[in-house]
Amino acid sequence: MTLRTRFALWISALMLVTLGAFGAFVYLAVGHWLATSLDDSLRLSAAQLIAASDIDHGQLDVSENPVTLDPGLTEQLRARGMGIQVFATSGRLLQALGPSATLSLEPGSLDAALAGRTSLSTRAATSETGEVRVFTQPITAGQRVIAIAQVSGSLANVEALRHTLLATLLLGSPIVIAIAAAGGYLLARRALSPIDEITRTARRISAEDLSRRLDLPDSGDEVGRLAATFDEMLGRLDEAFRRERRFANDAAHELRTPLAVMQSIIGVTRQRRRRADEYESALDDLADETSQLSALTADLLQLAKAESATRPSEPVDLGELVPDVVESLRPAAEAKGLVLTCELHGDLTLSGDTDALIRLLLNLVHNAVKYTAGGSVTVFAEGAGDTVTIRVSDTGEGISPEHLPHVFERFYRADESRSAPGTGLGLAICQEIAHAHCGSITVTSEPGVGSAFTVALPRTSVPA
Ligand code: ADP
Repeated sequence: MTLRTRFALWISALMLVTLGAFGAFVYLAVGHWLATSLDDSLRLSAAQLIAASDIDHGQLDVSENPVTLDPGLTEQLRARGMGIQVFATSGRLLQALGPSATLSLEPGSLDAALAGRTSLSTRAATSETGEVRVFTQPITAGQRVIAIAQVSGSLANVEALRHTLLATLLLGSPIVIAIAAAGGYLLARRALSPIDEITRTARRISAEDLSRRLDLPDSGDEVGRLAATFDEMLGRLDEAFRRERRFANDAAHELRTPLAVMQSIIGVTRQRRRRADEYESALDDLADETSQLSALTADLLQLAKAESATRPSEPVDLGELVPDVVESLRPAAEAKGLVLTCELHGDLTLSGDTDALIRLLLNLVHNAVKYTAGGSVTVFAEGAGDTVTIRVSDTGEGISPEHLPHVFERFYRADESRSAPGTGLGLAICQEIAHAHCGSITVTSEPGVGSAFTVALPRTSVPA
């Protein structure tokens, strides 16, 4: 069952309950109001009738009629469908006008009237009249009841109105419910149509073609936000897939080059018999290429590890780590005649992954030593507030502005560095590690003057 059908059914059920309760209330309230208004008009008519009648106060014979009704008023009441009767105190009918002339005086009403009270009663339908409401009022002379007036009105009108109301409610409700259900269905269809679009697009999308987007107009509502989020997710997936594909291509390419070189060395060497020193030189060349290959695979592994690293959280003191890394590279720096200095300020503790942070520092300091022909390399670390900053600066060859934006890309090597051994993955690994610690890495450089790499790490890594 689709969401819109369910929505329409829910609306119908809700309307059924609401209309049922409302209809019952209206039916009962209107019925009650009709009945009381008939009673009120009977009471009022009786009072008017008695007030306008001529009453013989002195008459003593109870069997004679002491009341002369006002003909104008009686005519008026008859025209309104009311019946008028006057009884003697014995209960004998003295006068009857209008419909329900055959109505007798009920014993209960007679007793009440003789005691000076008015009474209201409902008479069941007879062959002559339908159901009738009767108001009985005593006519008094001083304290004495001398006759009894009875005004009656048919309940047929009230019943007819009640029936019409019931019929209207019973006939109208299914129509209203049907309209509400259809409206609910259409509204739901309209509101949910972008979701159908999302479903269709999601079905069409495969890993090969992540360039599709929903591009729904921004409606600012829940569905609009869903569509926008879906597009953003597709964008991220697309970017991630493209990066992975490019990475796999680059990796294959980088691995192929040393392998091709090795194959050609072997091919050339085997063309004819060689002298021992020629074999030795070929083996040396092969050894160079295999060490390049193993450096590359080691870096690829490092990168994969840095990428899939879970959130690092052990306490690390860079105040110990930085000098250790600097000392481990001092022999290489001194071999090139470089001055390697280390400056530490403030509290350098943070929570992170020790091995990854060592790799990051090693890569930066190693690069600084590798790309600096003479002068100095300075490692500066400072802890202030929530951030620990590490800066590795050198007085080396620098990086030209056209290469600078790309140095953190995988396999990227500035042309002039191709002579130095390397894989082009070192800085990419550094960036992955900095990001895994919710930190950042930036570079400033001037060709011929030197470069400075700055890593800013929060003391506690909070994932973005
Ligand atoms: P690799 O050093 O293996 O080539 P990296 O990713 O470590 O790869 O560095 C990428 C490129 O950035 C290098 O090839 C080099 O051109 C440049 N580079 C990195 N560090 C420095 C530095 N300290 N001084 C000058 N150039 C640098």
